[in-house]
Amino acid sequence: MRSHLIIVLMCGLTISSCSAIGRINMFSVDDERRIGREVAQEVRRTVQIASYSDSLSSYIDSIGAVVIRRCGLLSNHYRFNFNLVESEAVNAFAIPGGGIYINRGLLDFAETEGQLVSIMIHEIGHVMHRHGTRAMTRAFGLNCMISIGADKIDKESRYQGVAAVATMLTSQLTMMRYSRDAEHQADKFVIDNMEKAGFDLQEFADFMKLLIDKSAKGGSNKVMNWFSTHPKMKERLNRINKALSPTNKALSM
Ligand SMILES: [Zn+2]
Repeated sequence: MRSHLIIVLMCGLTISSCSAIGRINMFSVDDERRIGREVAQEVRRTVQIASYSDSLSSYIDSIGAVVIRRCGLLSNHYRFNFNLVESEAVNAFAIPGGGIYINRGLLDFAETEGQLVSIMIHEIGHVMHRHGTRAMTRAFGLNCMISIGADKIDKESRYQGVAAVATMLTSQLTMMRYSRDAEHQADKFVIDNMEKAGFDLQEFADFMKLLIDKSAKGGSNKVMNWFSTHPKMKERLNRINKALSPTNKALSM
């Protein structure tokens, strides 16, 4: 049954996305947590994660815990965990189920704790909006959703097939280029939660501006890595600035 399901899932990989599929998620929250555990193991095989005894690793772990508590996310479906990746590239990513990965290069690049927190909240936004599994749904295509629905397969076999494909797709997940809508949703999550976390939203705008300025001056590969997974930076900065404008601030009070 397992191999049959994997083949069914693989069949869908070549199906291109359509707008209807973009709004569908074939994975349950339960699937997502289990896929997350599977993918986390694969991430550990693919990139080097700093040990918890590393002072910066325990720093992002403790600051992440504060952010989760202040944003009221302690008792939701996901178990968030914050990991320091040994990479000089300025980047971060999230996997389904709550694993957040911050590159050492991003820690070096951010000028303030608030800037780092804004990126953490952005990644939490990707998890909360389930962008990883939505993107996987798009990649798998409608065929496999129909196959999974039509096949009266037991829960365990379904999960094994899904997890196997998830593992194969880890490289895409870790370098996931989300849709423009997904990036806007994750940014909106920052706009809605930055103050709850005890930080100023201006810090998020400052971080975006810093990246844009560095790239305009011929940014290094470390900086340009960010742009390969986070397009439309100027458009995104404009939206954040709009949320920061005095009129909008007054309206949201
Ligand atoms: Zn993003």
